[in-house]
Amino acid sequence: TAKMYFEKDASLKPLEGKTVAVIGYGSQGRAHALNLHDSGVDVVVGLRENGGSWNRAKQDGLVVMTPAEAAAKGDLIAILVPDMQQPDVFESAIGPNAKEGSSILFAHGFNIHFDMITVPETMDVIMVAPKGPGDLVRRQYEEGKGVPSIMAVHQDASGEAQDRALAYAHGIGGTRGGVITTTFGEETETDLFGEQAVLCGGMTELVVKGFETLVEAGYQPEVAYFECLHELKLIVDLLFEGGLSKMNHYVSETAQYGDFTRGPRVVDDSTKARMKEVLEDVQSGRFAKEWADEYRSGLKEFRRMEREDNEHLIEKVGANLRAQMSWIEPDDADESSAA
Ligand code: NDP
Ligand code: MG
Ligand code: MG
Repeated sequence: TAKMYFEKDASLKPLEGKTVAVIGYGSQGRAHALNLHDSGVDVVVGLRENGGSWNRAKQDGLVVMTPAEAAAKGDLIAILVPDMQQPDVFESAIGPNAKEGSSILFAHGFNIHFDMITVPETMDVIMVAPKGPGDLVRRQYEEGKGVPSIMAVHQDASGEAQDRALAYAHGIGGTRGGVITTTFGEETETDLFGEQAVLCGGMTELVVKGFETLVEAGYQPEVAYFECLHELKLIVDLLFEGGLSKMNHYVSETAQYGDFTRGPRVVDDSTKARMKEVLEDVQSGRFAKEWADEYRSGLKEFRRMEREDNEHLIEKVGANLRAQMSWIEPDDADESSAA
């Protein structure tokens, strides 16, 4: 079993007298910067002056400067801009300005694992990856809770890399939920596989294909929406709280029998074989290369597929139904996981 670190196993000492530069103020950046600040860590935020985040970080009461200036100040530099922006930001702003001996921190191992960023040997390369969206990392911290995180050391120049990573995880609230050590390779490959095969990719395809099957068979789209999308939250909450056995306990025997006998017909060993292919694409770097190429060539195909998602019938039906349910807050993306 994996070794886990909790609050009692960690302290902020390794960050005492040090400045943490958080580059980027999006989903993770904002949560990390505010949580560290509230934990008593000296934080500066690095942002481009003409971007939307600059004022937001200022309004949140943080010290804001350009990425180059922040990198020059930081003893620990957290790179929390989008993965595909990180190589440019590192080359232009961080590499040339970082102090010798500072630590470079990532929240996802992508660019290190796939050799898209090379950090000089004089610097630590560490990772703290919360296993949840940034909004939740912030909200749970404010509620005295914390999102479980994983941490890794790729390069230990200071001899304190692991301690600094754990202190950072502690400062953002991760040790309240538990912190597990991993490697950049394991984090990157499992994270990509998870979001592709199960969490984002597999799950939305299952929902959409189920919805289409009912609508094409002549059932009302609204009923299909409730069945295939809306109710998913209730099932996920049960799984989140108590695994398969809790779900089995709460759904009807009829639902259980249907699950046991029909589920494996829908998601069968051929699905699993294709999951293995998806994993191989991740492991070989084929996915990383394809995605970096798509990003560099202007995201044409990406935008087309995004439009296709957004224009699907399930989106129109869903928007209308959700508008009737006043208790669903449009921006509460993480309400379920917070429960
Ligand atoms: P976001 O897409 O939310 O980051 C947007 C932020 O980056 C904005 O503040 C934006 O500023 C800034 N930014 C974008 N490009 C640049 C640039 N060229 N120079 C300076 N600032 C820039 O990122 P995420 O939080 O989603 O991801 C950050 C990291 O965290 C990634 O490595 C990701 O894999 C990882 N991660 C993300 C999770 C999530 O929940 N989203 C979960 C776990 C890990 P502006 O307003 O100026 O555009
Ligand atoms: Mg991810
Ligand atoms: Mg999809």
